[in-house]
Amino acid sequence: MTTKADVLIVGAGPTGLVLAIDLARRGVIPRIIDAGRADHRESRAVSIVARSLEMLDDLGLAQAAIERGVPLHTLNFYQGTTTLAEMDVTAVDSPFPLDLCIPQWQTVTLLRERAEELGVTIEWDTRLVGQQAGEHGVTVELQHGDGRSQRCETGWLIGADGAHSTVRETAGITRERADLKRGFILGDVAVDWPLTRDRFHVYFDASGLVAVFPMIGGYWRILASAPDDRPPATPGLDDFAAYVAERTPLDSHVRDLQWSSSFVARESLADRLRHGRILLAGDAAHSHSPVGGQGMNTGMQDAYNLGWKLALVVTGRAEDSLLDSYQAERWPIVKAVVDATSTTTKVATGTALVARRARRHALRLFGRLNPVQQRLSNAFGEHLVHYRDSDLVFERWHESQARAWSDVACTGPEAGELVRDAYVENREGPVALRHILRTPGHHLVLFAADTTDSATLAAWQPSAHEAMAGHGEVHVITRGHLPHDPMDGVFADLRSEAHNRYGVRRPSLYLIRPDKYVGFRGDSVDFAPVSDYFRALGARP
Ligand SMILES: Cc1cc2nc3c(=O)[nH]c(=O)nc-3n(C[C@H](O)[C@H](O)[C@H](O)COP(=O)(O)OP(=O)(O)OC[C@H]3O[C@@H](n4cnc5c(N)ncnc54)[C@H](O)[C@@H]3O)c2cc1C
Repeated sequence: MTTKADVLIVGAGPTGLVLAIDLARRGVIPRIIDAGRADHRESRAVSIVARSLEMLDDLGLAQAAIERGVPLHTLNFYQGTTTLAEMDVTAVDSPFPLDLCIPQWQTVTLLRERAEELGVTIEWDTRLVGQQAGEHGVTVELQHGDGRSQRCETGWLIGADGAHSTVRETAGITRERADLKRGFILGDVAVDWPLTRDRFHVYFDASGLVAVFPMIGGYWRILASAPDDRPPATPGLDDFAAYVAERTPLDSHVRDLQWSSSFVARESLADRLRHGRILLAGDAAHSHSPVGGQGMNTGMQDAYNLGWKLALVVTGRAEDSLLDSYQAERWPIVKAVVDATSTTTKVATGTALVARRARRHALRLFGRLNPVQQRLSNAFGEHLVHYRDSDLVFERWHESQARAWSDVACTGPEAGELVRDAYVENREGPVALRHILRTPGHHLVLFAADTTDSATLAAWQPSAHEAMAGHGEVHVITRGHLPHDPMDGVFADLRSEAHNRYGVRRPSLYLIRPDKYVGFRGDSVDFAPVSDYFRALGARP
């Protein structure tokens, strides 16, 4: 029997599930399959960074995730009994200035529940075994656990099927690979030791590193570099106890192993993310060592970049050329993540004397320099990711007013940069900008500066809505009091917090994309560029 789907997602890991949720909340219910079983639990990635928490907040899941994890604010590096550096991860400019320690199966459970609430059915025990791509879609061969085969014709095939991706292999997408020859063991254990549970602790020693992260239920994740590239497949309690005793000064008793695994750090990067009607995301496109904790976070951000674009294309509201921007925007980002992780892994695990000395000096230095800490904190939180070079985003300046942003200390996010949060007010009280921007479309924010008269505010709205052409909402933020007559979508910014965060002094526009990056900004109330933006997107009303 041949079935049909608009979108088939292969893989219900964190990447595939974020994409399924993002599509479903935009009215596109995808088909999603996974070769594994529904009750399969793996701890794997334990760190959710600030940018991913913002994304989860947008999907309505951040609070639930925080309740199921351990929020951490500091990263301590030691050598023996000496503290080399203390990194403050709260220096990131985010409403979630923390790193959340939560086992991957918990994150996946939250995502699964949300996907199912939105009407997505995850088909477990169903494996993609082959595919044939055509001009208008892809025909795939599926194998069910009970031996049944099935054929499915899908408009779009998404490979979110992990590092050994069948989608990638059968599509003939090649990848660059390198073996870092660094082995690691990792496990979730209970340990008696005098460590505080409010931070990460990383110990360096001549023989390697031990990193420990507090987990829910009083457990700890231990990650240790192995001396060769052949670590035991399923390390036991003794392995963890031996590394802790050898590389830390802690008086410890390691007991109750919940889960363990090992891996050899290899990096891989697909040469492209799109091949006609096939798209790759997450580990299927890029994988690397877990040092730095970026793997799962980067995959979820791929999905968040792709979701809104794919939904517009599938619903016939944009040309499929829009999907080329997924490749153009994400590939440079994932390449940078793979390269940076490779360097970090080598620096963190180097055991030669010169490498150890360099690491010690670098850590001591950065521990003392606030700007370096701030930059690292933003990098760690994935807040330095931007799409400024994307063809989709632009700014429009009126020459006579070209200093609208530049004459204030805070210049506001540029086109292609992340939105900033701030509190404004409506009639019910204070409301966070990120919550105003939560509905899953574009958002046009009109900063009215000192314009407060209802007639002008009311006159702007029809033109703004016309320029948006049904692609999202319009919000007006005035520095004055709310107009006397209730008006939808008008907010007061009496303390100028939002205006300052966006560097705005005169009436200006910010068009926010569904993935919460600035698509366009202009320093006047001219709606023509908003229409230009949607035209460039290939979007139809
Ligand atoms: C041992 C280990 C430890 C790790 N630790 C960390 C860490 O500490 N920090 C970190 O950031 N990252 C870590 N990672 C990496 C992190 O787990 C991945 O980056 C993350 O899981 C990627 O998510 P994904 O959804 O792209 O792929 P995956 O989570 O791999 O999901 C892919 C899914 O596709 C399914 N699938 C595969 N092939 C098929 C097929 N042919 N048909 C149907 N379904 C298929 C699989 O069953 C799987 O459920 C670790 C990985 C491993 C293996």
